[in-house]
Amino acid sequence: MLIDGYEIDMFCPPCDPGSEAWVATVHVEADLSGLMPYMNAVVKNGYYDPDLPTLVWKEGAHKFFLRKNAFGINNLHDRAHAERRVAKLAEWLNDVWERRETITPDLTSRKPPIVLEVFKLLPRTNCRECGVPSCMAFAAKLSQGEAGLAECPAIMEARYGENLQKLRVQLAAVPGRQAGIRPVPPD
Ligand code: SF4
Repeated sequence: MLIDGYEIDMFCPPCDPGSEAWVATVHVEADLSGLMPYMNAVVKNGYYDPDLPTLVWKEGAHKFFLRKNAFGINNLHDRAHAERRVAKLAEWLNDVWERRETITPDLTSRKPPIVLEVFKLLPRTNCRECGVPSCMAFAAKLSQGEAGLAECPAIMEARYGENLQKLRVQLAAVPGRQAGIRPVPPD
């Protein structure tokens, strides 16, 4: 078994005060570097950086990450919720590790789009029709896979056709609404 014990650290991101959305960072003794190419193959469109190493992916309402000696989940309600999700995730990671001989490892490196580059291609009128206060806020949501281009009516206008094509290329690897959300592992 790769992960046979862990310690959970909980914190509330300072960028989201009062939201009661917690992040669990789970510290392990095992080196998870060797697991990452297999998980990269399983989750299909995560962000894998073998140099750090780290793998980040999104499933439903949660973002998940693997680091060398840690893994984690965001958007948790409380410690009880974290403990349930962490137990399931640890079980899933161990299962993938046990089945690694049947999985073709994916060494493809992907990095998230830069929010500013996405913003530059949006109409930049801050019209709010996408439901957020500014094009910059919408660019951040696009980059996180928390919004889709179709939610900005203006970018669908013919005059932005070239920008739209560039945005589709930039956002092609973003997990979430651009690529379709995959099933969430059981809660
Ligand atoms: S709908 Fe489009 S143009 Fe309007 S604020 Fe949102 S991103 Fe900007």
